[in-house]
Amino acid sequence: MLPDIRSQTRDALAEQFKAWSEPAYRLDQVLGWIYAKRASGWDEMSNLPRGLREKLAAAFTLTLPSLVTVQGARDTTRKFLWRLGDGSLIESVLIPANPALYGERSDRHTLCISTQVGCAYGCRFCASGLDGWKRNLEPHEIAGQILAVERWNTGLPADQRVEADRVVNNIVVMGMGEPMANYENLTAALRSLNAPWGAGIGARKITISTSGVVPRIRNLADEPEQFRLAISLHGATDDVRVQIMPINRKYPLRELTAACEYYVEKKGKMITLEYILIAGVNAGREQVIPLASLARRLHAKVNLIPYNTVEGLAWKRPEEDACRAFAAAVEAQGVTTTLRLEKGHDIDAACGQLRLKTERALAETGGSPAAGGQ
Ligand code: SAH
Ligand code: SF4
Repeated sequence: MLPDIRSQTRDALAEQFKAWSEPAYRLDQVLGWIYAKRASGWDEMSNLPRGLREKLAAAFTLTLPSLVTVQGARDTTRKFLWRLGDGSLIESVLIPANPALYGERSDRHTLCISTQVGCAYGCRFCASGLDGWKRNLEPHEIAGQILAVERWNTGLPADQRVEADRVVNNIVVMGMGEPMANYENLTAALRSLNAPWGAGIGARKITISTSGVVPRIRNLADEPEQFRLAISLHGATDDVRVQIMPINRKYPLRELTAACEYYVEKKGKMITLEYILIAGVNAGREQVIPLASLARRLHAKVNLIPYNTVEGLAWKRPEEDACRAFAAAVEAQGVTTTLRLEKGHDIDAACGQLRLKTERALAETGGSPAAGGQ
């Protein structure tokens, strides 16, 4: 099988073009077609000589995930189910900015993307790992989710389309899978989405969420790009965290905290601590002080998300009042805290964790100066 052109680095492609005796500007044209114009076939690249298109077609594929279904309506969250080349299914979620909440233009959207098929980390509350891990996504399958959503938008009837060049202004890597366990492919994809020769999405508008893969947090801190980091904390003490997140055995809070400190110090960027509220597990008052001290120590903000019930799992979200009280108690400790309580979460219930991403991404865009910018 041929490799996909979007899984090649720019340097590797430059080498290839040299070997073909093609001038460098031709590569820029090709990349422009792929990332700026979201092309999905060589024949669309009308300003390239036919000979080059043939060489490209013989060396690389240029495929986008194919759309299986899209749920949701205009101006609301839309869920995309994609089929990949090998038949695997993944999801992405498109979340419109809420102009009422954040005063943004209505063409601002966040896309929550997946990085693996399944997940090997086995957090006890999570739907993604229920069927185990199948495989890592390739860079073109990660970046392809953004490009495919934008192509899908262009194909809509005019009255349903988002009238903007770029539909996706923010990316949250909070879909299926542990992004840091697919680090090389993830960073390759994000680099081409971020680069000026690629999709040109600002690094500050890209947030990676991890369950706490400590060495990779340090690697990310050492990267030149200023990608944002969110930590799935879900427990502020080891004894609570270890009950629901097996990764805490390998990387306990002390090590996770040290890696986060390293990240914050290197990047000068605020991180987010994600904290799902699960009744009877981590939503008791005794977690408030450890959570607040951790957040203060890391200069982090805290996103509280009432647990979204997953079919087949017994965990439950606390009552609304209990969620509010927990949030207020953390806030009272001097920590910036967000709590997203939404009514009518029934339409999202089926997809388990995808809903959570909606909440989270909204909290992210609300909290980041990037959201309103540009
Ligand atoms: N593997 C990464 C990113 C994907 S999961 C991580 O764990 O951070 C994205 C977020 O969804 C994580 O914070 C995860 O803990 C959370 N999550 C998973 N299942 C959930 C559920 N049923 N309700 C609320 N949040 C959930
Ligand atoms: Fe994997 Fe993240 Fe789900 Fe844990 S919460 S099982 S790391 S996707």
